[in-house]
Amino acid sequence: MFSVFKNRFEQGYRTCSYPKEKPAVFERYRGKPMVRQDAPQDMVDICAEACPQDAIDRNLKKIDMGKCIFCGTCERLSNKEFVQFTGDFEISTAQKDHLLTAGDLPDLAEHSKQHFKKLFGRSLQLRQVSAAGCNACEADLNVLATPFFDLARFGINFVASPRHSDGIVVTGPVSRNMKTALLQTFEAVPDPKVVIAVGTCTITGGPFSGSPEITEGLDKILPVDLFIPGCPPHPLTNLHALLAFFK
Ligand code: SF4
Ligand code: SF4
Repeated sequence: MFSVFKNRFEQGYRTCSYPKEKPAVFERYRGKPMVRQDAPQDMVDICAEACPQDAIDRNLKKIDMGKCIFCGTCERLSNKEFVQFTGDFEISTAQKDHLLTAGDLPDLAEHSKQHFKKLFGRSLQLRQVSAAGCNACEADLNVLATPFFDLARFGINFVASPRHSDGIVVTGPVSRNMKTALLQTFEAVPDPKVVIAVGTCTITGGPFSGSPEITEGLDKILPVDLFIPGCPPHPLTNLHALLAFFK
């Protein structure tokens, strides 16, 4: 018994102080892209042609974070003179078209639906649906339950049954095989309910874009309230999105 107390004392308090303080992320983490509008057009064209996701709008000089897999090719090819990724992980949006950005994003808290804050601000129960994800998006949602992120301290939990939940969190490109199960899960959630799209696959199809086996955007089949980009989104990106949108 004494050793348990000793161990607890030595471990100390491990939960991160976010959102009071922004924790430092790994230096190689790629968060919000900053796009220079004065970059020469030939450099922009080279990056756009090399982008595996067709995520660069060469005319607007913007990046579609709903398509981007944050591979860093454009940053490397332009030597950071066209695109530079920052450590800012607060990149989620309430509208899909807001993901097309040169580095500026609307305040998510201002764009959230006020009745959701009222309904779910103190207690939000979510059912996760992996609709053919590669398991990275799912893993980075899972860690929110660990003591470091401790999602439950905000009254937000993942639950086993859609009938006990206030909404669904979808990952993966929504394959044909998973579409029916996803729609049935959505139907089983009582109204009012929220739909959250996590990861590039769910938002636009991601690396599977163009395949006839996927849906190419969750918003084509369900009303999505919150878009969380990334491949996978950092756990802090997920945490920020949930807190800004519902709290
Ligand atoms: S980081 Fe994103 S925009 Fe840049 S090349 Fe990779 S997928 Fe395309
Ligand atoms: S967005 Fe990336 S990490 Fe998430 S399921 Fe798709 S391929 Fe995997």
